[in-house]
Amino acid sequence: MISMRNVQKHFGELHVLRDIDLEVPKGQVVIVLGPSGSGKSTLCRTINRLEPIDSGDIAIDGVPLPAEGRGLAALRADVGMVFQSFNLFAHKTIVENVMLAPIKVRKIKKDAAHKHAMELLDRVGIANQADKYPAQLSGGQQQRVAIARALAMNPKVMLFDEPTSALDPEMVQEVLDVMVSLAKDGMTMLVVTHEMGFARRAANRVLFMADGQIVEDAEPEVFFTAPKSDRAKDFLGKIL
Ligand code: ATP
Ligand code: MG
Repeated sequence: MISMRNVQKHFGELHVLRDIDLEVPKGQVVIVLGPSGSGKSTLCRTINRLEPIDSGDIAIDGVPLPAEGRGLAALRADVGMVFQSFNLFAHKTIVENVMLAPIKVRKIKKDAAHKHAMELLDRVGIANQADKYPAQLSGGQQQRVAIARALAMNPKVMLFDEPTSALDPEMVQEVLDVMVSLAKDGMTMLVVTHEMGFARRAANRVLFMADGQIVEDAEPEVFFTAPKSDRAKDFLGKIL
């Protein structure tokens, strides 16, 4: 589903992704862990070409990522992304936020987009907030809207970059619950998170990154109980 081959990326002198090879099959839920600056966000951002790569290949569902142009918009639509900050449109209501991209990018009719948006808001547990504005919702509710908005494009893959790290602790669980339910429904997911609860409940696989490389690639049970590298042992010692 996600395929990366020999992917290299620099920011100036900094070699931020070093020869990344990664295959994520359909339906797999992969957690990405690693110290700050190891390249986790950059990895996510290259998968939907928010960041261009220097060399290598990335394909989604067998379709190579185009460098630019119209193909890129379609591809971005296939890859849903949820960030630490919710990035909702402040001047649009919740349901309008969810309807916007399907109408603009997928050319869906307004009625159909509204119906689908309401189904998705129901799925993330906030259909009753549909006509409010983002500022009227809690952080956890806003992040669930951001998830619904990404799902509205019927993505093949969902990428999450620390989706709960900006939330007050009491709101983390409601967002993780939505993510766990997506995982159980078979969504292919790449999730940068240090939430061990999510890792235990939903992950099939853990990638540990350090200095732009995937240093470990293991089942969660194996990684958390018997990490191989000193870098991973050191990291787990700090977060567990
Ligand atoms: P964190 O856990 O802090 O979010 P991360 O693993 O997500 O870290 P990245 O954001 O991918 O790390 O950054 C990897 C490296 O690339 C860091 O050294 C960072 O400073 C650098 N970097 C990231 N974005 C840019 C950019 N747009 N321009 C220059 N350097 C960048
Ligand atoms: Mg990051």
